[in-house]
Amino acid sequence: MSPALEANIEKANGYLARWRGVPLGHFIAGRSEPGSSRDVFENISPVDGSVLNQVSSGNERDVDAAATAAQRAFPAWRDKSGDERRAILHKVAELIESRREEIAFVECMDTGQALRFMSGAALRAAENFRFFADRAPGASDGLALPAAEHMNYTIRQPLGPVAIITPWNTPFMLSTWKIAPALAAGCTVVHKPAEWSPLTATLLAQIMTEAGVPAGVVNLVNGIGEQAGKLLTEHPAIRATAFIGESRTGSLIMSQGAPTLKRVHLELGGKNPVIVFEDADLDRAVDAAVFMIYSLNGERCTSSSRLLVQASIYESFVDRVAERARKLKVGHPLDPATEVGPLIHQRHLSKVLGYFDIARSEGAQIRAGGARAEVSKGGFYVQPTLFAGAKSSMRIAREEIFGPVLTAIAFSDEAEALSMANDTQYGLTAYIWTGDSGRALRMAHRVEAGMVWVNSENNRHLPTPFGGIKASGIGRDGGDYSFDFYMETKNICLAHGTHRVPKLGA
Ligand code: NAD
Repeated sequence: MSPALEANIEKANGYLARWRGVPLGHFIAGRSEPGSSRDVFENISPVDGSVLNQVSSGNERDVDAAATAAQRAFPAWRDKSGDERRAILHKVAELIESRREEIAFVECMDTGQALRFMSGAALRAAENFRFFADRAPGASDGLALPAAEHMNYTIRQPLGPVAIITPWNTPFMLSTWKIAPALAAGCTVVHKPAEWSPLTATLLAQIMTEAGVPAGVVNLVNGIGEQAGKLLTEHPAIRATAFIGESRTGSLIMSQGAPTLKRVHLELGGKNPVIVFEDADLDRAVDAAVFMIYSLNGERCTSSSRLLVQASIYESFVDRVAERARKLKVGHPLDPATEVGPLIHQRHLSKVLGYFDIARSEGAQIRAGGARAEVSKGGFYVQPTLFAGAKSSMRIAREEIFGPVLTAIAFSDEAEALSMANDTQYGLTAYIWTGDSGRALRMAHRVEAGMVWVNSENNRHLPTPFGGIKASGIGRDGGDYSFDFYMETKNICLAHGTHRVPKLGA
């Protein structure tokens, strides 16, 4: 073990010590709450399968208390000026930054994500708060729509209490991506984090309270998705559900919210293509393809998990990617040298390992990896893996594996590349590598995806719309798009006093 890893583990143990005593409860109306029943579940460390801590399993009473707190807190938060909300959200950003090391270390141990990526996660989370803080004063702005004898104008008003349900991959950053715009808009929130990675959600709730977010404006219920999550999406006080997670859960969220007519925003799964033409800058394309599947353990909705390469360069390109995959450093998430950490959970490990068998039985070649990585006893590590010689019809090319696993397929020309890229139920992102700008435009316009990057890996600019089509989601986040979800648009029509009012019964 390197001295740097040893020192980091010692630090992490210090940060984790506080979670080890009593079960982690909820955060309701500005206070930590133990949970109304003794039901708990275990939070498991991806590093060695040991129990990190116990977590209260939220039930109907807990969810109702949180939703009611959010409902009570709503009028006062709605009526605060945009400038007041702006100041509080900037303070949240400052406090996140000041605790960035703790957030990174806890996130690494809770999720298995490598420190080299998580060390920046808190900064991005702070940026999310700053970005939406600055938009709070203008969030209610609308349009002037004058008619001949009437003046119409629109304003936007916050929806009310909203549910925010988040997954286990990079949970801290993803929660801020939802919570920051909801608060900037003037909504109040009940957050249900993923049961496999609950820790940093509580840190965020504490930070927001310390920053001056009033009691009840943000509430947190820990628990199992099918119980606490489901109850939250059904609660009549909740006006909308913003969800990040799997496509099939998204469909359940829609149906659970239907009886109470909830608005839904769904950011779901993907099987995103990276399409490499023979005329591309291949050195950059190799770097980007490797980064977009093996960073964040491949547990990334925008990962490019299908590598579509033009036949003329297929063998050499795939060889280069395979060589990189074999050299990736798999290790403890707190080792500064680690590029790929352990997967989140035993169940997810089994799912990913299952695809290695599926690839073999479907007749694909395994050009790198294809087995469990022996890093530590009991840890959920897999080797970065590359399947080649695949076909679009294979399960390894159609299903979201959500691990460091890439499926490579050859195409002959632009038309075949496009039809392969679109031959999926998903439509989150696509990455196109070509030196021909006309082809880049043709492909970008026709590929079925909510977001397309040309000659680039996923590069985020917060005002741009983020979201998917088909089974990858409904709705957009980012910039003003987030406010379209968290706010209602109201039209107000004033008469000049000149138009003829119809007279009935005169
Ligand atoms: P998941 O759908 O299993 O769980 C997500 C959250 O939903 C968890 O908090 C869970 O407890 C809760 N949940 C589960 N069942 C529920 C129900 N019936 N009602 C209410 N809540 C319920 O997803 P996951 O395995 O945690 O996350 C991985 C998935 O998330 C992948 O498919 C990935 O692509 C997707 N994801 C998408 C984006 C995006 O922006 N499109 C970003 C990150 C992750």
